[in-house]
Parts: sequence; structure tokens; C-alpha cells
Amino acid sequence: MKKFDAIVLGGGPGGYVCAIRLSQNGMHTALVEENDLGGTCLNRGCIPTKSLLHSSEIYLQARESSKYGVNAENVSFDYTIFIAQKDAVCGTLRNGISGLLKNHGVTVFASRGTLTDRNTLLLADGETLTADNIILATGSRPAQLPIPGAELPGVMNSTEVLELSNCPKEIVIVGGGVIGVEFATLFANLNVPVSILEMQDTILPPLDQDISAAIGKKLEAKGVKIFTGVRVSSITEGLTVHYVCKDGTQGSAAGDICLMAGGRSPNSKGIGLEKVGVLASKRGHIETDGLCRTNIPGIYAIGDLNGKLELAHAASAQGLMVASHIAGLPCKAIDNNHIPSCVYSMPEAAMVGLTEAAARTTGRDIGTGIFSLTGNGKALVMGQNDGMVKLVFDKATGEILGAHLLAPRATDMIAEVAALMNAEGTIDELGATIHPHPTVSEVLMEAAHAAHGTCVHAPKINQKHYW
Ligand code: NAD
Repeated sequence: MKKFDAIVLGGGPGGYVCAIRLSQNGMHTALVEENDLGGTCLNRGCIPTKSLLHSSEIYLQARESSKYGVNAENVSFDYTIFIAQKDAVCGTLRNGISGLLKNHGVTVFASRGTLTDRNTLLLADGETLTADNIILATGSRPAQLPIPGAELPGVMNSTEVLELSNCPKEIVIVGGGVIGVEFATLFANLNVPVSILEMQDTILPPLDQDISAAIGKKLEAKGVKIFTGVRVSSITEGLTVHYVCKDGTQGSAAGDICLMAGGRSPNSKGIGLEKVGVLASKRGHIETDGLCRTNIPGIYAIGDLNGKLELAHAASAQGLMVASHIAGLPCKAIDNNHIPSCVYSMPEAAMVGLTEAAARTTGRDIGTGIFSLTGNGKALVMGQNDGMVKLVFDKATGEILGAHLLAPRATDMIAEVAALMNAEGTIDELGATIHPHPTVSEVLMEAAHAAHGTCVHAPKINQKHYW
């Protein structure tokens, strides 16, 4: 039996970050991971998809480069090199995590671990580890949608699509959420015919409606067929994906690959929760309080496993918070409303806080500041000035309640607003912050000015009604 101060089960962005911080906080720490370090994010999610998207964007730029005076003839792509590049990036990052864990003195066990009591984990080789603190960070996997024909060859989840060595010829995507839109963007960039079938009335339902509608239009302009408000009824060989519309009419979409992107399920089975009495919801998410404590003292659950927010950066933030709590350092519950979320569409979309519609249900007097990217020089230089920013704020106090961006590098820019919201910043403070020129980031300042009808780079008529 090996004794530690803390044991982390799962080496994804929640688990490995938590383990390193625990060690930095002076705790003798073990990390147990049965697969590759880095979890879904690094091996089957965020990073590999961004690598493939980056390759597809380079292909797109090369095809359109003559507009900028660069002549590239017979532009083509080699999907096997996309994959090799993705694998190289992931391999480098995996080695980095392994090195960091070692460097910080975390003991890593490459094994499956199962709780046997509230202080003990049993490893696959029979070894046992004990600690006063156990952090469960086992993540999630693609949800299996109960659709007849979902077992047919060619019907895949996101992990399996990422493992394809050849580019699909035509793809149907079930689910128009974040994963569906990212893969649609990737394959549309490569001229692969794409159909999205989404159950709700809009793709990307959690986004501000103006942004999700604009992303839909952008995808359609690339040739993506989007069917919303449809229920997928079955899949037959070929592959043909059959759906039923709300008015009862039926239709179908065809492809050699069908990606099932209808959400994710927590990895909470087979880790001994029942033995120890850790409570979980019907869907399997472990119940936790604001500090990610489960009902069993000394056992924590972070990341996708607790279902608070299925985002890598949320998992990491929870891991850091828990590491502080265990070490007796000051820590406070995370405000989920200040956690940004991103969609890697083209252009990118990013949001933090409340949508305009959600803000209007709070009973507060809501104002918006909107700026179109047509008035931004840098975006025009980049040939990507078709986008917008919307700031949502409380008119009485000026407090920023939400920000919604559709812009190149929106995912990099959203952190500015998140930082301001954390500091309870106001729309006036954002407007008074001098942004460097020429940058796309100026659109945030311009939107803050537009809220007062004082935006210099937008027609007067477009500003009046925002305040
Ligand atoms: P999601 O919940 O974002 O979207 C799933 C979509 O599928 C929903 O819009 C839902 O209405 C639809 N759907 C479900 N069942 C359906 C059916 N039978 N027919 C048609 N539509 C159906 O889930 P996701 O896109 O699978 O992503 C999973 C999680 O991973 C999300 O929480 C997401 O935030 C996270 N993620 C984040 C990023 C990022 O931050 N960029 C990227 C990928 C995934």
C-alpha cells in the first residue's frame, strides 16, 4: 500500500492540472491514468480538432490566395499529412504534460483505478493507494444516441472521426452543437458536402441568437445543408439518415460517414462510486457543491464528470480551486457565468456571460452595444470583416452581463471581457480602455462606444436604439 496526501483519478485538463497544483501546494500527490495523459481535450477533442481545422484553413487560404497576389496553382491537400501533423502536435503536448508532472514530483500510475473505500484506490495490478483526499476527474465520452441503425459501419462518434486516415466523401452530422459545427467547418473547408441535422429550432442553441444565426448563414454559404427542428428517426445502409420534421414531413440526408454529435456522457461507471456511496444524478454526473466536494468528505469530482460545464478550461479551473481547498489555502467557488465558451467556426465565435435574451429575463433594464466588423480595418485586411460583437449590460449600473463575438480570433479576444466581468467592470471602462490599432480587438471598444451612440466607425443610424 502506498500512501499519499492526495490522489487524482484521471489525467485530463482537470486532473493533471489539479495534480501539479497540489504538488506546488506541498502535497504528496499521485495521478492515476489508464490511457494517454491529456484526456479528451488533448487526445480526442480540443487540440486534435484545432490542428485539423488549422490545416483546412491553410488549404482554404491557398485556394483563395490569388486575391492577395499570391499565385498557388493546383492547390490540393493530403489528409494523411493533416493526421500526421495533428498526431505530432498531440504527441509534443503529451510529452510536455508527462515532463511537467515528473518535474513537479507527481507520481504517475499508468493504470485504471477503482475506489474501494473513501480513502483507497485499487489499481489494475492489485496495488492499492491511499490518501485523505481523492479527486475524481475521469471525464466524459460521446453519448450514444438511441437511433436504429446507429451501429452500422460508417456511423461514428467524434473520437472515431478523428481517427479516420482518409477524408470522408460526404458527411451527415447528427447534432448542431459545438462538436457538430466544428466538424462541419472542417469538412466544408475541404469541399466535402456536409448536412447537419439538429433537433432544436436553431444550431448552437446556447449562443446568442444573432451569433448562432450568423454562423448558420456562414455555413450555408459554404454549401453546408442545415436542417433544424428535425428528429432523426433511423439510419439505413448507404448511409442514409432519415429524419422527421415538426410538421410530420420526412426527409433524408446521405453520406459515407455519419457523425453522432449529440452531447457527451460522464465516465462515472466502474470506478467504485456505489461502493463508497458517492451520489450521482440519473445521467451519471457526480453531485458536487460549489467547491466540487461530493457528499463523501475528502472526495471531490471535477470536470465533465460533475456536469457543471463541459469545457476543458472549466475543468482546469475546478482542479486549481480544489487543490487550494485541500491545501487549506484561500479559495472561492467559481462563477460559471464568467467562464467563456468558444466555437471554432469560421470566423470563430466566443461568448461569456448572459445572452441578450437571458439577460432580458432577469428583470434588469438591459442595454446592448453592437458593432459590425465591416468597420474594422484589421479584419478587412484579413478578408474576414463579416462578423459582429454584441455587449449586453445593465443600463442602471453599466455592469457588463455578457459579450458575444463572431470575429477572427474571437476565441483569443473573449478573455478580455471575462477579466473585466470578474472585476465587475462596466461598459464605460471597456470603452475607455485604449485598444491597440490596428487590431480586431478594437471591435470591443467600438461596441462599448456604440452602446452610448458615440461609436466613430459606425453610421449614426445604427447606434441610436442600443442604449
Ligand atoms: P452539445 O450539447 O453542444 O450539442 C449537441 C446538439 O445535438 C444539441 O444542439 C442537441 O439539440 C442536438 N441533438 C441531440 N440529440 C439529437 C438527435 N437525436 N437529433 C438531432 N439533434 C440532436 O454537444 P456536443 O456538440 O456533442 O459537445 C459535447 C460537449 O463538449 C459540449 O458540452 C461542448 O461544450 C463540449 N465541447 C466544447 C468545445 C469547445 O469549447 N470549443 C468543442 C467541442 C465540445
